[in-house]
Amino acid sequence: FAPWADPAAKPFISVKNVTKRFGDFTAVDDLSLNIYHREFFALLGASGCGKSTLLRMLAGFEQPTSGEIILDGTDLAGTPPYKRPVNMMFQSYALFPHMTVEKNIAFGLRQDGMGKDEIGERVLQMLKMVKLEKFASRKPNQLSGGQRQRVALARSLAKRPKVLLLDEPLGALDKKLREETQFELMDLQQNLGLTFVVVTHDQEEAMTMADRIAVMSHGKVVQVATPAEIYEAPNCRFVADFIGDVNIFDGKVTASNANGVEMSVDENLTIRLSGAEPLAVGSTAGFAIRPEKLRVSRTPPANPRINAASGELWDIGYLGDMTVFHVKLKSGKVVKASSLNAQRAVDDPFVYDQEVWVTFAEDAGVLLKD
Ligand code: ATP
Repeated sequence: FAPWADPAAKPFISVKNVTKRFGDFTAVDDLSLNIYHREFFALLGASGCGKSTLLRMLAGFEQPTSGEIILDGTDLAGTPPYKRPVNMMFQSYALFPHMTVEKNIAFGLRQDGMGKDEIGERVLQMLKMVKLEKFASRKPNQLSGGQRQRVALARSLAKRPKVLLLDEPLGALDKKLREETQFELMDLQQNLGLTFVVVTHDQEEAMTMADRIAVMSHGKVVQVATPAEIYEAPNCRFVADFIGDVNIFDGKVTASNANGVEMSVDENLTIRLSGAEPLAVGSTAGFAIRPEKLRVSRTPPANPRINAASGELWDIGYLGDMTVFHVKLKSGKVVKASSLNAQRAVDDPFVYDQEVWVTFAEDAGVLLKD
């Protein structure tokens, strides 16, 4: 499933140069992106970056100051929320406290004038979908957080929208339930063949659930890509730093050709990268490498000048599934390395404060242009 990679594929939702201003504050800034039919799409960014505002414009609760939103070939400008083939699920769930689960789910259908029998059928179908048949006559305050979340989901899917917009859908759940529910949401989205657009500030959640992620900052999209691409090949410092853990080395490009790039960080560390895009010799750049791509060893490498630096083992954190090492390099920079305990060679017993070497392969990180 990768319609975005097919230049002939038509996007289902097209956001074109959309800007949203509140007074003189720009919440969404000339933003464009495409979302495809049946895609699970995540908008990820820090608080205040404009992701909810974008979602609310898709829903029709806010109008763009300029730009267009096209859904399934139709310009949505002037289409009120209730006439859009789109439904929104809020973090607070917004269930009616005095209504039973059944009535909560039926509410929108009744408003639309659907017949009684048909409503009954649809509600039952929705209850089955979220596995809450036995809870039909309970009120929201007689349910757990996870169950309430499922009622809200059932209610927002009852009208069979083509697109479901979810604003921090799992925000109110504890960690374990959250993780379970992430997989339930993914199954549901796949089985129903719907397009989901989810807003979250939780990167793990976005990585787990989404086909693609748009990383947002200050009202703009910084990178749109699959979770793996975002993690392995961030396109700038912001994304490298925002997603996951990273070590960034700053240096100056000393050589650059078709074989790769060489960069000098300090007198002890030269970085050599194969397959990197050429950069101007003399320019400054960053090198981003994830902790699991750094190897820590007590034995000096064959070539201690290239992709290797020595330092002192600062601390060792045992996390069960993996161990995290902080190494203070000679330059004073502290780097983070990690290794899965199931895969770690046991011939390297580490103790604090001893001298260790940190090494990495020539294809183990990415260059970030300044
Ligand atoms: P969060 O994760 O905290 O919900 P967000 O990325 O979803 O953040 P938005 O809710 O889209 O952020 O808000 C983006 C910016 O626009 C914020 O600085 C917010 O204060 C501002 N904003 C949102 N709605 C309004 C409004 N109605 N009037 C004025 N400013 C607003």
